[in-house]
Amino acid sequence: MRERSSDSRFSAVSDNLKRINENIAEAMQKSGRTDTVRLMGVTKTVDPEVVNFSIEQGVTLLGENRVQEFLGKYEAYEGSPEIHFIGSLQTNKVKYIIDKVSMIHSANSVHLIEEINKRAAAAGLTMDILIEVNIGDEDSKSGIPPADVPALADSIGELGNVRLRGLMAIPPVDVDGSSDRYFAQMQRLFSDLKDKTAGDGRSLVDTLSMGMSGDYVRAIMHGSTIVRIGSVLYGYRQYK
Ligand SMILES: *Cc1c(COP(=O)(O)O)cnc(C)c1O
Repeated sequence: MRERSSDSRFSAVSDNLKRINENIAEAMQKSGRTDTVRLMGVTKTVDPEVVNFSIEQGVTLLGENRVQEFLGKYEAYEGSPEIHFIGSLQTNKVKYIIDKVSMIHSANSVHLIEEINKRAAAAGLTMDILIEVNIGDEDSKSGIPPADVPALADSIGELGNVRLRGLMAIPPVDVDGSSDRYFAQMQRLFSDLKDKTAGDGRSLVDTLSMGMSGDYVRAIMHGSTIVRIGSVLYGYRQYK
């Protein structure tokens, strides 16, 4: 095994993690929140040994974007991290990840959710899902329009092997606080969804997944419960 103290990739990750945790704590305090937010390490393009180091340093939740890359790295992960799938997911790939992740953040069509339900049933499990919302109405992004959330939530309620946990969004890139209004809209949608599903005996709406390297502090100010962080934790990627 490589000597870690002499490998700058590792020392950078521990410094970054420390700073991110401080920023998270400060944002929680500023917003007066007494609930919790989780830090997710987004692992795309990151070597498994660096991911494992971050797990040793206290990262307990990983986010995976690409099925192929994930399958190649999955066995190398140590320390039993919790793993969520956050990337765009083709229906024909659901079967490869269904027993390897505990939540799918990118549920964005009835068709996809039905396939997740079918594969979960076959694997004898119930999959937690988040509805992905295209909050900035951008052509380049997947996700459903905000107005369609209630109808999609209703259709999930009829499926026995998926459980609705909340919402996920990737708003337009933040410029001088421009993402605030999108995060505020997501917070309202989330609150409406909680009200709508309260007491239905099937959903457990408690997860609002929003905020990335450039905007996680703002997202926390608007109630995010999972911030998905790649580049400011693991270093900037060569490709996206
Ligand atoms: C890459 C990615 C992230 C992390 O992005 P950074 O800006 O590097 O923090 C978060 N969420 C999703 C869905 C991603 O694809």
